[in-house]
Amino acid sequence: MRRAYWTLDWYDAHIVAQMLHHEGIDAWVFNDNIVRTDWMQAIAYGGYRVMIDDGELADAQKHIDDYLHGKRRLAAADDDLDLCPNCGGHAVRDNAVPRRLLFIWFFLSFLSVPVFVAIAVAHYASSLSHIDIVGTVALSTAVFFLLTAVLPPLYSAFRLKWQYRCDNCAHRWQSPPQERWSILRDRASGA
Ligand SMILES: [Zn+2]
Repeated sequence: MRRAYWTLDWYDAHIVAQMLHHEGIDAWVFNDNIVRTDWMQAIAYGGYRVMIDDGELADAQKHIDDYLHGKRRLAAADDDLDLCPNCGGHAVRDNAVPRRLLFIWFFLSFLSVPVFVAIAVAHYASSLSHIDIVGTVALSTAVFFLLTAVLPPLYSAFRLKWQYRCDNCAHRWQSPPQERWSILRDRASGA
C-alpha cells in the first residue's frame, strides 16, 4: 500500500478517498478516528492519510492533482452558492479572517495569566519586595475574564457581520438568517 494523499483536514481526506473510489481506485483513510480524537495533536498522529494499492499511484496522483488545482470544481453557474450582493459575481467564499482574529484574541487572553505571573516574579527578583501572590492571581484572572467576556460581542460584530467575502470586489456581508425550521420542513415535505 502507498500513501497517495496527506492532509490535516478530516473532510478533505474523505473527499479525496471518495473521489478516488468514484474513479475506480480503492482508497482508504487510515486511522482517521484516532487522529480526530485530538485535533491539536493531529500532526503527531501522522495526519489523515489516504492509502491506495501500489499499482494505482500514478492514476490516483493525476486525479488528486486535478482536485488540488481546482479542475474538478463545478462551473460557477452550477454551484448553489449565493451570488455577491454587490457585484452579482460567483467568486463567493467563507471569510476566514474574522475567525482567525478571534482565535488569536482567545489565545492571547489565555496568555494574560502567565504574563502577569512573570511580571510579578521579575518584580520580586529585582526589588526583593514581598510578592503579592493573591493580588497577582486576582489581577490576571480579572484580565482573563475581561478579555474573554468581549468574545461574544466581537463574534457578532466581526464573524457574523463579515461572514462571506467576494473575491471579485472584496465586498463582505452577512448571510440572511435562515427561515424557521418548521417552514423548511413543510416545504421539504410538500416537494
Ligand atoms: Zn462582488
